[in-house]
Amino acid sequence: MNSRRFGTSLGIDLSPSIKQCNFDCLYCELAPAYPVTSQTVHVGVDEIIEELKAALKVHPDIDDITVTANGEPTLYPELDTLIERIDAIKGETKTLILTNSATIDDPDTFRTLLKFDQVKLSLDAVSPEVFKKIDRPAEGIDIAAIIEGIKAFSQQYKGDLYLEILFVHGLNDTDDEIAALNSVLRDIPCKRIDLGTIDRPPAYPVQGLSYSELHAAAAKFDADLPIHIASRTHAESCQSRYSDEEIVNTLDKRPLSMEDMELLFDEATIKRLQKLIESGKIVSENSSGITFYLPAENLHRKRQ
Ligand code: SF4
Repeated sequence: MNSRRFGTSLGIDLSPSIKQCNFDCLYCELAPAYPVTSQTVHVGVDEIIEELKAALKVHPDIDDITVTANGEPTLYPELDTLIERIDAIKGETKTLILTNSATIDDPDTFRTLLKFDQVKLSLDAVSPEVFKKIDRPAEGIDIAAIIEGIKAFSQQYKGDLYLEILFVHGLNDTDDEIAALNSVLRDIPCKRIDLGTIDRPPAYPVQGLSYSELHAAAAKFDADLPIHIASRTHAESCQSRYSDEEIVNTLDKRPLSMEDMELLFDEATIKRLQKLIESGKIVSENSSGITFYLPAENLHRKRQ
């Protein structure tokens, strides 16, 4: 697959036959399922490694090996052995795991996650009520412990850390929840925070945000957080005309990809933008394979 936010990726699904997850998110693209805290069905490491070797022979130029699941990949009981065996054969290819963060407060999982080159952690809400409503976790999973786990992980981790927030209309897009998320995110150094919304038919009857609502939500976070809008499918065109100053102000608040800007700006604005790029007022910067645009003067004050 070719991921919008990462490069060319080879996926490993650690629960290919059934959904096994410690959450039962309202927005899940898989069918609803009662949350579980361990896998009852799992594929052996040898089998996965043999398939990976064969796939790497056919696709030697992939950027990432992405570990994921129909559910939560950290529930896979041999994850530590698996990452070590992948490391032994992956060469220059980077490993990436996509997790819902629920097990990050478990010391064994924490140590295993440290071994991945890239980790993407989901954090949809920080208040216990909203967290429970959206992510519907298995009993005993506590958002405060998850947040502490993410903060501790961000301090120790040497690889590329990404966070993701998925917005559900009327739940975690309120001013209060965004302010609470913003305050937690300030304590988590990371490479990028992807804001997304529902792109595919959800497990339960909930709605995503429109592209303009997502854009408005993004603008409520502090401008120095590395926030990027990651959702596309839900994007309806909301092209508007912007002056030069408005273009610079928009990109000052939030760097955008050309794809984002083509949804936001009308044709005349895109032409104006091209002139700003030619003049050097707007510059591009690469973040993990995606080119983002921002005012030249912002480069030096961008958060690492
Ligand atoms: S964490 Fe992922 S797989 Fe699990 S219920 Fe939520 S969206 Fe579905």
